[in-house]
Amino acid sequence: MFLTISTTGSAERPATDLGFLLHKHPGKAQAFSTSYGTAHVLYPEAGAERCTAALLLEVDAVALVRRGKGRGRGGAPDAALAQYVNDRPYAASSLLAVALSGVFSSAMRGVCNARPELPDRPRPLRVEVPALPARGGPELVRRLFEPLGWTVTAEPVPLDAEFPQWGHSRYIRLVLDANTLTLAQALRHLYVLLPVLDDAKHYWVSSDEVDKLLRAGEGWLPGHPEQKLITSRYLSRRWSLTRQAWERLELVRLAEADDSEVEDIDNAVAAEAEQEEKPTPLAALRRDAILTALRARGAARVLDLGCGQGQLVQELLRDPSFTEIVGVDVSVRALTIASRRLKLDRMGERQAARVQLFQGSLAYTDKRLDGYDAAVLSEVIEHLDPPRLPALEYAVFGAARPRTVLVTTPNVEYNVRWESLPAGHVRHGDHRFEWTREEFRAWARKVAERYGYGVEFVPVGPDDPEVGPPTQMAVFQAGTAKEAEAA
Ligand code: SAH
Repeated sequence: MFLTISTTGSAERPATDLGFLLHKHPGKAQAFSTSYGTAHVLYPEAGAERCTAALLLEVDAVALVRRGKGRGRGGAPDAALAQYVNDRPYAASSLLAVALSGVFSSAMRGVCNARPELPDRPRPLRVEVPALPARGGPELVRRLFEPLGWTVTAEPVPLDAEFPQWGHSRYIRLVLDANTLTLAQALRHLYVLLPVLDDAKHYWVSSDEVDKLLRAGEGWLPGHPEQKLITSRYLSRRWSLTRQAWERLELVRLAEADDSEVEDIDNAVAAEAEQEEKPTPLAALRRDAILTALRARGAARVLDLGCGQGQLVQELLRDPSFTEIVGVDVSVRALTIASRRLKLDRMGERQAARVQLFQGSLAYTDKRLDGYDAAVLSEVIEHLDPPRLPALEYAVFGAARPRTVLVTTPNVEYNVRWESLPAGHVRHGDHRFEWTREEFRAWARKVAERYGYGVEFVPVGPDDPEVGPPTQMAVFQAGTAKEAEAA
């Protein structure tokens, strides 16, 4: 297994700085023993203009099997032989990634005590891997590396150069070029993506692998369009770990998008159509509509799902007819702000007994949500990617099953009435979609039917004769069929 990293430079910024960055002297060939064999680092070329470091991993297939690490899931008659006769010794794969992180660990962390100014400086980089097992082919290689700033050359390696008619092997020759990346970023990309392309069972996978993945993925994985595929393959498709990683990536995304961007427009003045002296912000109108609907249905124990910074929870607390109020959000930052707003730590015992905040994702079922009178989803569904909506629908309407569910979401038709909103724009950067009245109704009716609820629609804010209200609310009530069943 063989990988080279090259850089170019000049007299003032010599390419041989690569030696400092990698903590390996260009004048020496060094060998390191790893648990899978011996890793060699050497420099085929080391000049001011061009410098190349090579990592060569000599895999000890026999030791690998003896240690029990290379054992396949077995059963097939040739499984025993396959432990010894396989592509491990020459194809770059997950083992190369492990060696990379072992031999270049400081470089990967971006540490260089001798020349502290070097690691943060992007430099021209070329990475070459002559034989890389790539399940998904050159096409997937591009989808993985190009969003990170690499120019990708991926050529399939023929099974046998003498017999082109035999076609391609599952290996490719990979060349990556970039000018905008630091060496640490490049190494972290390789550390994660080489095993992803290999897609073999990585027998080392354990629960701290999620931590390692997120650490190596810091700064690039949360925004990567293929983050789901990357996570699932890296974790050898172990569902419980993959799910953990997805949830944590979502947290990172939300923390980043988070409340730095307040929902300005939404919370701005409702409409000029309203000739009140001091028009009420739409957010307040929404809370009023929600409280009215909850009271009308006699709800006492209420979930605020996606409670954000706790404004609705605060209002619910003011009315003693709400005896138990639970705020749930996926964003820890939002919950921290909510808890400060509510002064949870200074609250009297009686009040404190009525309220609870906890972190959770609505895309997963959660026992803690069972048995409430009502659940509110105020301006939450539009923050989910449409393919994840069915999971939320199931978690709320299928599993938790409160008697009443209130869902509010923007009415996109109304956007033309917002003066400050350029045509075709959504109201908030993190909205994944905004629906027309018809789209919302179709969705709500489908959900109601599937889970045995009745549904009504209530406009929130001035109901414009042409485009409808700024906010639309659906009120779901557990259906009679279900009640008859329970009786
Ligand atoms: N309900 C509040 C906040 C709306 S903003 C209000 O009406 O003002 C949307 C909120 O949904 C954010 O706080 C966000 O963190 C939360 N959210 C988004 N996706 C979520 C998910 N999958 N699970 C739980 N909360 C989520």
